[in-house]
Amino acid sequence: MTTRVPIVVGNWKLHKTVSESVATTDALVDLLPKRGRAEIAVAPVFTALMGVAAQLKGSRVALGAQDLHWEAKGAFTGEVGPLQLVDVGCAFVIIGHSERREYFAETDERVARKVRSALDHGLKPIVCVGESLQTREAGDAEPHVVAQVDAALQSVQPADLASLVIAYEPIWAIGTGRTASPTDAEQMHAAVRAQVQRSHGVPAGEGLRILYGGSVKPENAGELMLQPNIDGALVGGASLDAASFAAIVAAAD
Ligand code: PEP
Repeated sequence: MTTRVPIVVGNWKLHKTVSESVATTDALVDLLPKRGRAEIAVAPVFTALMGVAAQLKGSRVALGAQDLHWEAKGAFTGEVGPLQLVDVGCAFVIIGHSERREYFAETDERVARKVRSALDHGLKPIVCVGESLQTREAGDAEPHVVAQVDAALQSVQPADLASLVIAYEPIWAIGTGRTASPTDAEQMHAAVRAQVQRSHGVPAGEGLRILYGGSVKPENAGELMLQPNIDGALVGGASLDAASFAAIVAAAD
């Protein structure tokens, strides 16, 4: 029986204006039971962070950002750094999402720097890893994902792992309606945990929370989260609607 606290994170990506983000937040807070087993976070666009933070006060939902720059301040036009995220009330930050890796030249090296910076500033990184369909079909999914995890955790100490979450998101399952089967997802999560136990020690690896992401919906969330090494979900599309996100939280609770 695991003692890991499940966590469900909504990634709103480039959706919703400030007023739409605030309205979804209000609806979500109304729908959720005041208490439950799961930890919950939502990650709106940068411009909506402040508005959403105000609506989340006193609720059980934490605030997350979708990315950060590793430098705390300086001449980095267009970037948002850890100090700004903490200032606005973020507890979490998504790092290395496959969309950033694919469209914005995010590399393993940059992911590692962002992870270290987030931890140094008291933010909890949600580190995304996952393989393409091509990599899966070539039979290389596991070594690919394990290498991404190794790279992201290279400057992370065992004690840091209590404040860090990994999200396994097979790229072919993101926004496609295709979900990894609970068995396939569990196999990958177990492989990631085993690797982290080798690199950072058994207790730290055992305590590490590993989320599944990729077309998670109310209909499949329960079965996925019943797997012993799946500790929650990173949810894109289904998090945009308060009712479907609340139903996924209910499965985690
Ligand atoms: C995501 O982008 O993190 C994600 C899992 O998206 P979706 O749930 O829409 O597949």
